[in-house]
Amino acid sequence: MMTDIFATRVNPDRPSALSGLFINDTDPSAVSFAAGSPNESLFPVAAMKRAFSDAIDDKGPHLFQYQSVAGNDSLRAKLAARIGKWGNVHTTAANILLTVGGQQAIDLVAKAVLNPGDDIVVETPAYVGALAAFDIYEPNYHAVGLEPDGLDLNALEDTLKRHPGIKLLYTVPDFHNPTGITMSVTKREALVNLANKYDFIIIEDSPYRDLDYVASPLPAIKSFDTQGRVVFISSMSKILMPELRTGWLVADGELFDAIFKMRQAADLEACGVIHAAIDAYMTHNDLDAHVTVLKDHYKRQCAAMITGLEDYFPDEVTFTRPTGGFFDWVTLPEGIDAGKLLLSDIQPHAHINYVPATNFYPYRDVHNGMRLCFSGLTPAVIDDGMHRLGDAVKSALHD
Ligand code: PMP
Repeated sequence: MMTDIFATRVNPDRPSALSGLFINDTDPSAVSFAAGSPNESLFPVAAMKRAFSDAIDDKGPHLFQYQSVAGNDSLRAKLAARIGKWGNVHTTAANILLTVGGQQAIDLVAKAVLNPGDDIVVETPAYVGALAAFDIYEPNYHAVGLEPDGLDLNALEDTLKRHPGIKLLYTVPDFHNPTGITMSVTKREALVNLANKYDFIIIEDSPYRDLDYVASPLPAIKSFDTQGRVVFISSMSKILMPELRTGWLVADGELFDAIFKMRQAADLEACGVIHAAIDAYMTHNDLDAHVTVLKDHYKRQCAAMITGLEDYFPDEVTFTRPTGGFFDWVTLPEGIDAGKLLLSDIQPHAHINYVPATNFYPYRDVHNGMRLCFSGLTPAVIDDGMHRLGDAVKSALHD
């Protein structure tokens, strides 16, 4: 059999966490709260078109030559300034690596750190793309739950005591995917102290941090890092456009060098033309002003979803109240399988889609939750969809 030749990391019996996430419902009334994509009507297409043109005019043929592995110096300097201003992380272009989306950054850190069977901690529920990336390195997962102010640090410390070899912890502290939860500042600092004490590396994955609807973003976990243990990752996908495939990471010292080496072997370097265009965009346009426009839209969409949860969902259901990002998490009573409910009732009859809880757990062992995304829908569509979903959940619980 061909599969006998494959590396164990392919693991054909375990489909990628990213497969089969979305149902394609062609009914005209269908509303999908499933895909976590940004709203493309807000993409600054004309300005980006000019930026590509400016970059080509500026650099000429050299733009299409091989570029440096770490990526465009000028863009990295701009990103260093940005994370200094909005995250209190004081770094320079030399500690920034541009990557093919935040997704590649997660993969590269995992590649630099994990051997098969190594112990890692993921907060649960966890971002599916991170689970898909980690799966390839065949780790031994330890799941630690979230509280309303972020990772449960008591549960984490218990886990660290029981498994002293834990090497890596993955967290999305700002407007978490999939729950919308934000980690408190106290916990950010305490988490770094735990990493110092128990000797592990933190991946701080923060693609939504700019999309705050209530208050300015909190200091990054990386801002408390004095030992070079935190890798901060962010992305242009949510604040500009995902198909620019531009993410970036901040790391220090030997860890930066190790990640850099992984990157060099993976693709030499990639997206140099795009990085030059983003740099030109940021030179000639006010990215913060664009982000303010995005926030104004997403904030209204977020409010419409929370109102829908309050108005249409039964009392037995609990939900998060995000103050930024794209997502809300709904917890159904124990014993209800949100995946089965979606396939048997909600999608065929109400034509509503969401992503069931199971996808967000490394051992696929929690079923009574759903991720709802509001980023691609108008407030009116959100209201209609939440009404139908709330009614469907009510009848499933009460019939
Ligand atoms: N991390 C999180 C938490 C995400 O939600 C996403 C995208 N959905 C990514 C990383 C990766 O995004 P990209 O590769 O487009 O930067």
